[in-house]
Amino acid sequence: MLRIALQKSGRLSEDSYQLFKECGIRFDYGTGKLKSVSSNFPAEFLFLRDDDIPGYVEDGVADLGIVGENVAVETGRPVQTVHKLGFSKCRLSIAIPRGTNWGGIQDLQGKNIATSYPNLLGNYLAEQGVQADIHEISGSVEIAPSIGLAEAVCDIVSSGSTLLSNGLKEVETIFRSEAILIANSALDAEKQALVDKLLFRIKSVQAAKNSKYIVLNAPNQALPQITALLPGMRSPTVTPLATEGWSSVHSVLNENDFWENIEAIRAAGAEGILVIPIEKMIY
Ligand code: ATP
Ligand code: ZN
Repeated sequence: MLRIALQKSGRLSEDSYQLFKECGIRFDYGTGKLKSVSSNFPAEFLFLRDDDIPGYVEDGVADLGIVGENVAVETGRPVQTVHKLGFSKCRLSIAIPRGTNWGGIQDLQGKNIATSYPNLLGNYLAEQGVQADIHEISGSVEIAPSIGLAEAVCDIVSSGSTLLSNGLKEVETIFRSEAILIANSALDAEKQALVDKLLFRIKSVQAAKNSKYIVLNAPNQALPQITALLPGMRSPTVTPLATEGWSSVHSVLNENDFWENIEAIRAAGAEGILVIPIEKMIY
């Protein structure tokens, strides 16, 4: 059985639970329990604080875990990154009081910087050749300048609204992060096979998320142009409509190319275009 460590409650939790649900792996959570066994996959889930997850995975208490890359790198535990998960995207940035001028990273020379990420910040400053005093605090970093604790902060930002409401401005991004799946670096063959099985499901779910199923009607003379715009997984399906001279085209389109392609397809003569979400996509 695989033991998988997830954040108990926080910014990683909901998307982590959702991911396993989409992979068809059921387990109870949110009942205040610290662990839960899946009813349909050989896995046991542990609900922990995110900061503790890399350590548990290193020690083998858990085989797998989901954490932010920021936490994985900061803790510096020797675990393997198995896969990037695409959620909980954020960045680690330096911010200073809004009224202060910013001429570049060298402005931090000799200054006090408050952060919960002393290692990430320390490495960055060393790379930049800047010497500063790093003041490690575990939370509410953004109030440090206003209470005179530090002249700058280095903290997690997503929209920037927390910085703004504390009178700070973001001046330098030092690290970009998203949720990742980490694993113990010495899994036995049996566990590795389960990890591969899980990974196959995760990739199918992710592929589906980035794609749409598209169905449209087109006059037959427009088919060469339209099918060229819709390569699909192998090639599009084309079937005749009951109306003479018309066909129905079915294909899969990458979400990213979606709007651009839709316009070209319409311009080529397509009608009655349906765009349908895909639940799983198996290559
Ligand atoms: P815990 O109680 O488990 O220690 P925490 O307060 O340390 O939780 P959260 O704020 O829940 O942590 O953030 C967990 C992770 O989510 C962060 O390490 C980061 O990778 C990511 N994250 C943080 N803030 C945001 C945000 N605003 N938007 C998206 N992702 C974020
Ligand atoms: Zn934490």
